[in-house]
Amino acid sequence: MAITDELLGAYAAGRTQSEKHFQRARRVMAGGVGHDLRYFEPMPLCIARARGSRKWDVDGNQYIDFLMGNGAMLLGHADPEVTEAISSTAASGTHFGNDHPLQIEWAEWITRLIPSAERVRFVSSGTESSALALRLARAHTGRTKILRFEGHFHGWHDDVVHGFHPPFDADGSMGVPPQSRQNLVLIPDGDLNMVAEVLASDTGIAAVILEPTGASWGRVPLSLEFLRGLREITARHDVILIFDEVVSGFRYSPGGLQHLTGVIPDLTCLAKIVAGGMPGGVVAGRADIMQLFDITGNAQHDRHRRVLHFGTFNASPPSAAAGITVLRRIASGEPIQRANRIAEQLRHAWDEVLERNGVAGYVYGDASIFHVYFETDSGRVGRASQRRDLHTRDAKLLKGMPPQLITQYQRHLRYRGVDIMSSTGGLLSSAHTEQDVAEATAAFEATVHALTEEGLLLTMTSVTRV
Ligand code: PMP
Repeated sequence: MAITDELLGAYAAGRTQSEKHFQRARRVMAGGVGHDLRYFEPMPLCIARARGSRKWDVDGNQYIDFLMGNGAMLLGHADPEVTEAISSTAASGTHFGNDHPLQIEWAEWITRLIPSAERVRFVSSGTESSALALRLARAHTGRTKILRFEGHFHGWHDDVVHGFHPPFDADGSMGVPPQSRQNLVLIPDGDLNMVAEVLASDTGIAAVILEPTGASWGRVPLSLEFLRGLREITARHDVILIFDEVVSGFRYSPGGLQHLTGVIPDLTCLAKIVAGGMPGGVVAGRADIMQLFDITGNAQHDRHRRVLHFGTFNASPPSAAAGITVLRRIASGEPIQRANRIAEQLRHAWDEVLERNGVAGYVYGDASIFHVYFETDSGRVGRASQRRDLHTRDAKLLKGMPPQLITQYQRHLRYRGVDIMSSTGGLLSSAHTEQDVAEATAAFEATVHALTEEGLLLTMTSVTRV
């Protein structure tokens, strides 16, 4: 019996409750899951509880978690101080629809930590954050188009849904009006000349938005020179530079990637960690842009010269309480250092697995993030004399690994009790331990063996050198 069939049988046999939940879900929930990435065969994970770096499904199976609430849980799951802040706040009312003191303290922490954040506006998710940032940029400049980069993810709304998943020129989703594409200029990242050319020739561009880590939280790394150049070119053309720091904010440093690099955007999108594991998001930025939200009492101004923004759950009290608690802890720098240290150990251990097994690929990532690239182009392997030669910044390669390889990789890891974020990568927290690294590395090595056996991986010696 193939290794996958054997594992699959054991996996399914140990998840009878998960299977029942999935069948129930399918009857009432569209797609059977709450998020496209949660879909998994034979059945999605159905999680009952989580603590620190681990989580347990409804059948009692344990997982080492590298999904970490899609990157929201920098301090780990169910941190006692955070859950206490949420429950004591909720006891006084979960939602008023009015302003309250905690949101101001939350905003003060964000403006203290994030260099570009002179003012903030709260929303409820990363998707809302990028939608609102683009509206602000258009309002401020009076222009309509948005320059985006292939592979960069900014949520699921119409303006950003195309171009994040290869093939980049295909529609991102059905149901998006064709006008959305007309408002979009989509180019590969990393090429400053191309950016300069686009901005010089197209005067209709309001903003450039990007993940400053590189696409998909650093899956496709970007150079510092590119970020610096982008800052300079956008300023020259009076185009708004928007950093989507939904993942990197409060993870790369207490002040995000912008604090680490000194490249300061005009607007910043934040979500995930900012709300401490509760729903929440933020648009932060220059006071002269953010003043477009100001209500002055002048009827003409207030009706026609400002940006409209509502949102029932903006800055809800439990989200504010969780956010404040987490940001206060992160401000010391200690949780980030801890998460980075343990992630570095994991990257090193996993890369050694590839080295030991001669696999054509490499493990990489910044801060507390890891990605794995498996080279499946025998031409590239043939031209490489060592694994280092396979390193690339080409989004078509890094985001173009065969779907079957990705699926099997995720299955083998999960069958062995390791859950990751997406593609081949994941995120760590300050709660991860050396024990997690040791157990996850054993699962990774078994995965690599299985994938090799299934003929899905190339080794450095399996290809005739050219
Ligand atoms: N931007 C980036 C960089 C993200 O990674 C995500 C979510 N993974 C979003 C925006 C969207 O955030 P949300 O899922 O909260 O809408």
